Amino acid sequence: MSASPVDDVLSVAPPALSGDEAAALARDLFGVVGDVHEVASERDQTFLIDGDRPAVMKVSNAAEDPTRLDMEALAAQHAVRVDPGLPVAQPWMVPGAPGGSDDPASYRAAIPAGTGAHHVRMYDRLPGGASVRGAALGDDAVRDWATVAARLGRALRGFTHPAAHRVMLWDPQHALRLRDHLGAVRDRRVRGLVERTLDRYATVVTPLWPALRAQVIHTDLCSGNVLVDESGSVTGIVDFGDMSFSALVVDLASVVESHLAGRAVDDIVRTTRITIDGYERVTPLEPGELQILGELVAARACAGVVVPAARAALYADGDALMADLRSEAVILLEALHDIGFDQFAERIGGHARGRGASVAGLAARRRSALGPALTGLSYREPLHLVRGEGVWLFDADGRRYLDAYNNVPVLGHGHPRVVEAMARQARRLNTNLRYLHETVLEVAERLVESTGPGLDTVLFVNSGSEANDLAWRIARAATGATGGLCTAHAYHGISDAIAALSPEAWAPGERPGHIRTWPPPDVYRGAAAGTTLFAGAIGQLVEAGHAPAAAILDGILTSDGILDLDPEFAREVVRLAHEAGALWIADEVQGGHGRTGSHLWSYRRLGIEPDIVTLGKPMGNGHPVAAVITRSDLAERFAASTDFFSTFGGNPVAMAAARAVLDAIEDERILDNARTTGDELRAGLRELGASFGRIGDVRGMGLATGVEIVRPGTTIADREAADLIVNGLRDRGVLIGTTAAAGNVLKIRPPLVFGRRHADLLVARLGDVLEQLEPELDAETAPLDHGRG
Ligand code: PMP
Repeated sequence: MSASPVDDVLSVAPPALSGDEAAALARDLFGVVGDVHEVASERDQTFLIDGDRPAVMKVSNAAEDPTRLDMEALAAQHAVRVDPGLPVAQPWMVPGAPGGSDDPASYRAAIPAGTGAHHVRMYDRLPGGASVRGAALGDDAVRDWATVAARLGRALRGFTHPAAHRVMLWDPQHALRLRDHLGAVRDRRVRGLVERTLDRYATVVTPLWPALRAQVIHTDLCSGNVLVDESGSVTGIVDFGDMSFSALVVDLASVVESHLAGRAVDDIVRTTRITIDGYERVTPLEPGELQILGELVAARACAGVVVPAARAALYADGDALMADLRSEAVILLEALHDIGFDQFAERIGGHARGRGASVAGLAARRRSALGPALTGLSYREPLHLVRGEGVWLFDADGRRYLDAYNNVPVLGHGHPRVVEAMARQARRLNTNLRYLHETVLEVAERLVESTGPGLDTVLFVNSGSEANDLAWRIARAATGATGGLCTAHAYHGISDAIAALSPEAWAPGERPGHIRTWPPPDVYRGAAAGTTLFAGAIGQLVEAGHAPAAAILDGILTSDGILDLDPEFAREVVRLAHEAGALWIADEVQGGHGRTGSHLWSYRRLGIEPDIVTLGKPMGNGHPVAAVITRSDLAERFAASTDFFSTFGGNPVAMAAARAVLDAIEDERILDNARTTGDELRAGLRELGASFGRIGDVRGMGLATGVEIVRPGTTIADREAADLIVNGLRDRGVLIGTTAAAGNVLKIRPPLVFGRRHADLLVARLGDVLEQLEPELDAETAPLDHGRG
């Protein structure tokens, strides 16, 4: 393979007009009269002309292809048409040009040069000065420059031209061609540095390149081509001479490289981050772009070393012109290697490549930083998860797990509609309910419509606990009573008031005096299905001097073991509660948003009419957002006692998420899927139960399923076996949990996009675990054999 040329234009000496000749050309071709000053240019001649109207005259290299000059003129016009505020110099038409203003050839005049021609062009001269050293720019200027770069990229998005497909060594797209010219770099240490950088580029960037966003870009938004005022604000973008079809992020890399010139090593990451902030005001970066930004900056620095050296080998002047640039490029390359490219990527917001910290190390840090009160990690081998997509979770080693546990990402992890809705809204505005905003009203109105008659008022908060806490306050204010009722092993949240209504989290022996619990009927073990125990709990409460203010119920009894509630029974307990003066709180944090597959809200399946409904967990598909829905008469009584405001409650980003979730539940027919997949899953589990005596009962509705793990042949709960099963499944790539007071019920509660094939996989893996479990458990319970000699 023959070596790539340094660039045909870069290898031919620039034109060499005198000042007088240039002044004559300006006058004769464009009618411009004024003082002429030449400015440095790598391959053209450029003259500033101080006449009536300040202008810049460019005399192109004889090797320059005129269609590239046409592309420059068209691009400058296109950019300003799209974004009229962009400070991009416009070309002047040659007076009397036959093609008229639509013909790009009308913006250049040819003068003979040996066997070829120099093309002469006149551009508006923009205010400001060029070649400000990166280190001299303040943070505002750094940011502003990057924002203008992003605007230019956006303005050129729809522009194309055949001449844009070219090979430019300054464009990192062609970085590896620099290897052909490494021999021109005489300093061995510097040559080694460039070689290492290019090797890194080849392994990390080259494979990613085809996936990068690409378009026609400026390619070289360095200080030589960007004019700024005294404050550093951009006043002009000039010299589109390096334009090419390349990765969009290359423009940003050219800005970063320029900004880093002359900076101390400890300012490199910070300056890059500020540059990125400025760019992302207009164009958010894609993860891959962020990941390789350091390598792209380094590729430009390599060009900064190699191209001048290669040109110096061709003719002497170029070397002197680029000497400063070259030494700064070497310093920057050294600094990037010192920081480390992976480190750099991570510190500017990308992800670490490779494994990173060990699970044991992270667990130790968690213990130390987050303390002992935080709940333990799931599974004997804790998971370090780094990514989620649909029903799948991925750990730091890239292993994937079927998520049959997490109900919060109700539409699946990272649902694009929710993520995008939130990101768009976060970019646009995020405030609070002291200002008017439409989305919160739309979400509230849709919730009211979905909850049934009487429930007409919505208050937004940020977690299930807060929703229940607020519901409890409303109940207290509305009834004037102090007592509360909940199921025997319920969990409703973390606030002081709601922890009292959460026996699952009570300390041993704890039993708040104003709370009474009732055991929901356990059909599997044949417990009495009557309402006597509930009525008894009310009686005890009254006897203790606490008239009941509210009874709270999770419609799918998640913490009590995912028990099937009989609708008739449910209606009767609600009636009894009302009769005793209590309000009914339907906690839909678990059962809501379509989990049961029959209705959006689980209480509707039971046919009961709650006074207050609380929502949480799945409401934002992972973003914290929660709500209380109640009747206006109750809200009024609450309002008489207090003024309610939650800083984050109902904020526009949370509401964008909530609306996207409601939309996607409808569009993706989530309820149908929850119903059919749930039925199929339970059928599969029951089939498994026929072979394995450890499965005592399979129950639930929609995609909330409980599996009783018992000692074979009995109904005795076996927590130990349930633990082994959960951990065995984890080791086989399936995530579930346990629930119930005895801790022996498998809790299977996946995102509602869980499909048939996922259910089949879960059942198959559970079968594998059960198969292996029998000997394992036998070994644990068998008497120890000490042997005989
Ligand atoms: N209610 C129920 C039924 C719950 O399961 C939970 C959480 N597990 C909550 C309320 C509390 O929600 P959060 O953790 O968002 O405060």
